[in-house]
Amino acid sequence: MSDKPDPNDFHTDTLAIRWAQLRTDEMAHSDPIFLTSSFVYDSAAQAAARFAGDEPGNVYSRFTNPTVRAFEERLAAMEGGEQCQALASGMAAISSTFFALLAPGDHVVSSRSVFGTTNVIYSRYLKKFNIDTTLVDLDDLDQWKAAIRPETKMLFLETPSNPLSEVGDIEALAKLAHDNGALLVVDNCFCTPALQKPIALGADLVIHSATKYIDGQGRCLGGAVVGPAELVKEVHGFVRSAGPSLSPFNAWVFLKGLETLGLRMKAHSANTLELARWLEGRPGIAKVHYAGLESHPQHALAARQQSGFGAVLAIEVEDSDGRADRQAAWRFIDGTELMSITANLGDVKSTITHPGSTTHGRVDADEKKRAGITDNLIRIAVGLEDVDDLKQDLARGITALGF
Ligand SMILES: *Cc1c(COP(=O)(O)O)cnc(C)c1O
Repeated sequence: MSDKPDPNDFHTDTLAIRWAQLRTDEMAHSDPIFLTSSFVYDSAAQAAARFAGDEPGNVYSRFTNPTVRAFEERLAAMEGGEQCQALASGMAAISSTFFALLAPGDHVVSSRSVFGTTNVIYSRYLKKFNIDTTLVDLDDLDQWKAAIRPETKMLFLETPSNPLSEVGDIEALAKLAHDNGALLVVDNCFCTPALQKPIALGADLVIHSATKYIDGQGRCLGGAVVGPAELVKEVHGFVRSAGPSLSPFNAWVFLKGLETLGLRMKAHSANTLELARWLEGRPGIAKVHYAGLESHPQHALAARQQSGFGAVLAIEVEDSDGRADRQAAWRFIDGTELMSITANLGDVKSTITHPGSTTHGRVDADEKKRAGITDNLIRIAVGLEDVDDLKQDLARGITALGF
């Protein structure tokens, strides 16, 4: 691309391939990788100027790195945000955002349906610094309103949620946050900018676990925060001191991942919608949770704020004797042969997991019930295998239920 182009002049799929391309004098077509911890200077005076921040430029890869910066600029352009800070993992992105932007006495309102470890940050670490969190149902705006206090500084959500595909109204929650002087932070890991643009809907910050669909093939851990420069600079300040910086090697893998993100998310979503429709009403399948289905209570909202429904669906199973319990769920899971039994997602490989005894295994029984994590619930993160082979694999699971 030529000098100083405007990302608004291009579609997301073009930005994913062309934006912030790194090119050295060697003129390599593929982005080079700057696998270096430190950088050298022409003179002692230049070193001093760089360290003092009087001259822009790289100093040390805990602070900045060209490959990491290319990933940051590309993802910021795709999300429609001003600036991006890359981090070592999705949890590093979430916790660094909290530690950079919150202070003792502040209050956070969060969807109860967030990634399990995010809840650990609330209950164990934010609490330790006297930052209180109130958990609410993602899809109940009245609960969000009722939870707001004068000291509320941040509203936090993931949409669609894991594993039940509940949908949060980003536009309405952004208005609620801003009417109360708080920030709206959206974990956009499940949709990625290929399917959902929270900033355009009013969110202040978008968070990613790049480990999932941005990598797309289950190789590297990474994360990112995107938003206005004044907020992202605060997160950057924390990262360069605390050190959860992204490896340039991982940033390079993510640059490659972004190039095919749009294509993959379309294919993931198409496979998932077809499987969800195929599963609905089949013997042994008591319920299918997927926002792409017309039977989903927030299908219309999901269709409005997303351009695809994503690749995570959940089913509630019941065996031929009418038992809808953990044993039935485990029999279904063990009946499949192709899908990987693992809690990971965002991979070309389909995965199947029992949330009640894995991802949500340590959640207490009451909270599990409130969050809808029943014993007969199974989560499927749909990959890019041929959908007919995936159907056949789920049919094996149904056979294992005695049908
Ligand atoms: C996996 C995940 C995270 C945490 O990301 P890591 O890269 O594993 O630290 C955060 N949010 C969501 C929605 C996730 O799926």
